[in-house]
Amino acid sequence: MNASVITIGDELLIGQTIDTNSAFIAQEFNKVGIWVKRRVAVGDIAEDIETALDEESRQAQIIVLTGGLGPTADDITKPLLNKYFGGRMVENPNVARHIEYLFHEVYRRPGLISERNKKQAEVPDVATVLHNARGSAPGMWFEKNVNNRNVIFVSLPGVPHEMKGLLIDEVIPRLQQHLRFPSILHRTVVTAGMGESMVAERLLGFEAALPRHIKLAYLPSYGMVKLRLTGQGHHENTLAGEIDLLFNQLTATLEDIVVSTTDEPIEKVIGHLLLQQQKTLATAESCTGGNIAHWITRVPGSSAYYNGSIISYSNTIKELLLQVPATTLRTQGAVSSETVEAMVKGALRQLGTDYAVATSGIAGPDGGTPQKPVGTIWIAAGNQERIVTKLLQLRFDRDQNIEITTMQALLLLRKVILGQEESNVMNADRT
Ligand code: ATP
Repeated sequence: MNASVITIGDELLIGQTIDTNSAFIAQEFNKVGIWVKRRVAVGDIAEDIETALDEESRQAQIIVLTGGLGPTADDITKPLLNKYFGGRMVENPNVARHIEYLFHEVYRRPGLISERNKKQAEVPDVATVLHNARGSAPGMWFEKNVNNRNVIFVSLPGVPHEMKGLLIDEVIPRLQQHLRFPSILHRTVVTAGMGESMVAERLLGFEAALPRHIKLAYLPSYGMVKLRLTGQGHHENTLAGEIDLLFNQLTATLEDIVVSTTDEPIEKVIGHLLLQQQKTLATAESCTGGNIAHWITRVPGSSAYYNGSIISYSNTIKELLLQVPATTLRTQGAVSSETVEAMVKGALRQLGTDYAVATSGIAGPDGGTPQKPVGTIWIAAGNQERIVTKLLQLRFDRDQNIEITTMQALLLLRKVILGQEESNVMNADRT
């Protein structure tokens, strides 16, 4: 079952808005066995939208459009759809009532209902109206015979929050009533410490033996490689059995580099480990400026194991709050193995935790020297017994250097918690 997504709006074409709608639609469709074959973005131009409708309906049985349904003057989609499907605009009493309800009961601004808002209740009489519980623009469902196939067209508002509600509550259940989909199952393993090409080399035999209906995808990012097995079939139980078997083979082949078999981000993996061991964590961050603390605290329940952070951006704060010895800073410099080690010790002491992580480096774009160029970053993780330091030599922009350092610091912490060995230098090429 193939689908096409058409996103409408000049703002998408000029790069002002990132098209998150089609990613969401693709993900949700994928879960229920609908394959998004194509994604197209068009501006607020009637002929372009019409051409996209013609072209996409030759390719797919389900066409989802988002955007162009609101009350603003530049919205042209609804009249265009009305003409395209040969309908007549009529006021839909349910939508009219819903708009009244929203302005009276939800926004509590009845005086603000404009003629434009009221006009949103007008829909083509050939459309089935889909209730938009989160906003005033209704979704619309059309059907048309294209090349002797019945093609379903669904038009949804562009506002992501409204589009999501309609897709989940209205569109997918309706599609499931109308059509029969194959099962699609995914299993993802997260690995770290080995580049994509090396992982691929190790998996040559495994990949060659995969049946045609099961595919392996590589998703590399910041020193980690995710591997996703995706299978398609008409018998869910049989497929689940096959995928489980292959997934076990896959994780066994990669045993030494597996970080998670449930597609969890590293900060969640760390959270589980600390909870299991009933241990606590603190962070002492220089060049990451609190980013590690941010990653850790975006996990709900992190207060059970995370005490806090000292963001010691200046040498004074490193000395004053973390008690990094002045001589270490003077002789070795702030960006050194000795300094991050002392920062870990300081954080353990000052924040009273079992484990601590520290970072200090030159994130760029300025501040590099011939001895310590931009991207030279030291990280450390440890407890009272053992502190491991590691040099990163990165070559990206400031934001990426901070993200990679955050990821690497948490990966290092994981190894320390698990008592694993770690090589102490990482080059940018390995990320
Ligand atoms: P309205 O006219 O009420 O704003 P609409 O249904 O006409 O709603 P648009 O005008 O196209 O939708 O977009 C509304 C908002 O949703 C805008 O802020 C826009 O940037 C955002 N948006 C539109 N399309 C997308 C998309 N594909 N991905 C993410 N955001 C989007």
